[in-house]
Amino acid sequence: MSSILIIIDGLGDRPCKLLDGKTPLEAAQTPTMDSLAQQGLCGLTTPLVSGFPVSTHNGTAPLFGLSIESSRKLARGPIEAAGIGMKITPRDVLLRGNFATLSDKHILVDRRAGRIDEDQTRELTDALNEIPPHNGIEITIKPTTGHRAVVRVRGANISSKISSSDPGRIELKTPPEIHPLNEYSEAKRTAVALNEWCLQVRQILAVHPINKKRVEDGLLPANGVIMRGAGEYQQYKNILREVGVAPLVIAGEATIIGLANLFGFETISKQSFTGMVDTDIRGKIEAAKEALKTSPLVILHFKATDICAHDLDPIAKMRYIERVDKALVDLVDDVDNIVISSDHSTSSETGHHTGDPVPSILTYPGSRRDSVKEFSESSCMQGGGLNGLNSTQLLLMLLDGMGVLRNYQHGYSWLI
Ligand SMILES: [Zn+2]
Repeated sequence: MSSILIIIDGLGDRPCKLLDGKTPLEAAQTPTMDSLAQQGLCGLTTPLVSGFPVSTHNGTAPLFGLSIESSRKLARGPIEAAGIGMKITPRDVLLRGNFATLSDKHILVDRRAGRIDEDQTRELTDALNEIPPHNGIEITIKPTTGHRAVVRVRGANISSKISSSDPGRIELKTPPEIHPLNEYSEAKRTAVALNEWCLQVRQILAVHPINKKRVEDGLLPANGVIMRGAGEYQQYKNILREVGVAPLVIAGEATIIGLANLFGFETISKQSFTGMVDTDIRGKIEAAKEALKTSPLVILHFKATDICAHDLDPIAKMRYIERVDKALVDLVDDVDNIVISSDHSTSSETGHHTGDPVPSILTYPGSRRDSVKEFSESSCMQGGGLNGLNSTQLLLMLLDGMGVLRNYQHGYSWLI
């Protein structure tokens, strides 16, 4: 039996003015997904928490086999670190970092340092990793893509209960600083170490040849580092691992690859899988076909739906959905067990993630059927057999359809 879980990022939406009051999925022509909808069950499922807008990593984690509770706790730092293959231990504190531009008075001028690229940040991080450990705490920075980086804090008595120093916008008029989030000495010690490290970072970056050249060229210097998403790596219990279904994940986006790496899943990613509308959809379908020959479960991720909605472009989102649907026709005929779902809804009217449940399909040989004939938010709402389920329950239904839950002896209480 072959099985595929297709995750279309930010698939759900709200009525859009540019689409005459339809959502992109309602407006899109999706004969392939409509046909799947007719074969099995549809519905609006809850990624994590009803009504609450969640992030991609939290919303995807239940579909990757984590319990709802573990998915809620998951921080971005460890995922980013796993995404670039950074060596991490359960005691490390990991944060997402940005190279940024700060003024002489330490006020944030640009969160992305004029969108500096990784060729330059690689040299900058080499210089920063010369900073010796202070107070027994070693801080290491590794570049990812563009202005982004991962910061690893290592040492005794440290904690991830610390605030972000990245305000997510530039209106803030105070210097970016990290604060402890509780009264324990570990959080204070970690915050102090990172703030002191940031001061040394500023001194080194202020005189770095790359920044001198950038200023000469009229570009913003990368003269500071701001951070967010602190967390520790944890070996979370995972239902896919528990039942011996090690999936293969096909994706282009770093967060999804990071999640897969964190859980020890095999991945396929190519440079042409860009995570944008120009991604190689056909290449992903071919990779999935090949993977289905050997993997018990293939997870296929599409990102650009979410990007289009963030860009307030419901028409581009609709067209991307149509392209994915067209490409899927080549794939789904040969697959027995199929789920299509999403990590959260993203509104093309506001550009933000929303807490609305997401449209989902489940079909396997002999599965129940409901009366839904078209795959869309409004038709799922009317008579969808999956309505009210969360992503964990949807995944369990897929695993049940695959027949792998029958012999699982350890119960389900840890999952919900
Ligand atoms: Zn997402």
